[in-house]
Amino acid sequence: MAIWNRTKECMSADERAELQGRRLHKIVDYVYHNTPFYREKMQERGIEPGDIKSIEDIVKLPFTTKKDIRDNYPFGLQAAPKSEIVRVHASSGTTGRPTIVGYTRKDIGVWSEIVARAMTAFGVTREDSFSVAYGYGMFTGGLGAHYGVENLGATVLPASTGNTEKHARLIKDLAITGIACTPSYALHLAESMEKMGYTKDDLHLRIGAFGAEPWTDNMRREIETRLGLKAYNIYGLSEIMGPGVSYECECQRGSHINEDHFYPEIVNPETLEPLGRDVVGELVFTTITKEGMPLLRYRTRDLCSLMDGVCPCGRTSVRMGRILGRSDDMLIIRGINVFPSQIESVILSLPEFEPQYVLVAERNGNLDTLQVQVEVRPEFFTDDVKTIELFQKRLADKIRSVISINATVRVMFPGSIERSQGKGNHVIDNRILK
Ligand code: ADP
Ligand code: ZN
Repeated sequence: MAIWNRTKECMSADERAELQGRRLHKIVDYVYHNTPFYREKMQERGIEPGDIKSIEDIVKLPFTTKKDIRDNYPFGLQAAPKSEIVRVHASSGTTGRPTIVGYTRKDIGVWSEIVARAMTAFGVTREDSFSVAYGYGMFTGGLGAHYGVENLGATVLPASTGNTEKHARLIKDLAITGIACTPSYALHLAESMEKMGYTKDDLHLRIGAFGAEPWTDNMRREIETRLGLKAYNIYGLSEIMGPGVSYECECQRGSHINEDHFYPEIVNPETLEPLGRDVVGELVFTTITKEGMPLLRYRTRDLCSLMDGVCPCGRTSVRMGRILGRSDDMLIIRGINVFPSQIESVILSLPEFEPQYVLVAERNGNLDTLQVQVEVRPEFFTDDVKTIELFQKRLADKIRSVISINATVRVMFPGSIERSQGKGNHVIDNRILK
């Protein structure tokens, strides 16, 4: 399979460490002189740019959090002068102020480079026609994927979200071969296509680039079967760049991180102590080439592990495992950590259910309860109460045996759970409100 940038994606470990060290020194010097926030933080720690000589020196640097970005809203962490900024994105900001990220022309170039690397790893070529069905606009998904696909030279259909029937029709009529969207939206699209009477044979889809929310291998298989394509993971976050920070290759053993631009670390989310390879912890990134809003040791809140070693695909960059959840969307039920992705995996291991579900946490007296509301597949749908109860029991038993949680299951009508066009929201935690 092709590799977009062999020089950068297949560097030897030494060569890469040397490049990262050089870039880190440069970025630290740059923020020290252009971002008062970082200069103050470094002065508090008694360090100067000259103290950061190699990539190992990164541990001397302060961490950055989403709160730091918010507290300096809107442009406080911007390092480049206003005249150099060519684009601004604003992330969803479900709690409080949105996060504002400015990009210079060079940043936009790096971004379309890394997405082209990802698309090439997925097997996309100039012959492909790609529908970008991440949201366009202030969210980074749409434009981020768009520039990368164009950079590679494939054709883009800038579908964005919404208007699903028209989109489905164009996928068929234009013989679209690839799609980039959230896994939730891919399922929603599959469902709409099935309703419209399309079969896989009417479609030419062969590659899916899915990300922006956690998903599981069972979900992957489900999407692959229903849309008739091969599904790949693409990961990113707006603070660091947007989609394309890491991507799967054909081996699908973790996602390769574009380490020549984003230096990853895994830390213990409580103590902030750096952790070794293959240990789950919080992912932290330092942007070592960014001009608009460079970030030092940014805490993503995403929990995963890093894997070393040369991948059979030939790329040498470190790989990250699946995101197991965010350290802030994890539910704790009676002291047990529960990630929505674990429940999803169990749901999909049983044939009766759709991967459409909501987890509702409540507090009953002092006791936490978890209810799993999940849709039954149309072909299993019945109004026979005994059968439904059997379905509920089977799922509850399986959840108990796999993740040691007592959950009640509520089987829902097909199509009754609200579909997401962007990121699926699988958790309702009523405990916080009380
Ligand atoms: P926000 O959701 O914070 O407004 P973004 O839209 O930039 O900002 O979302 C970034 C977050 O989305 C990541 O930190 C991660 O939690 C999640 N995410 C993105 N891509 C993936 C992926 N491929 N797998 C799992 N989670 C992902
Ligand atoms: Zn690989």
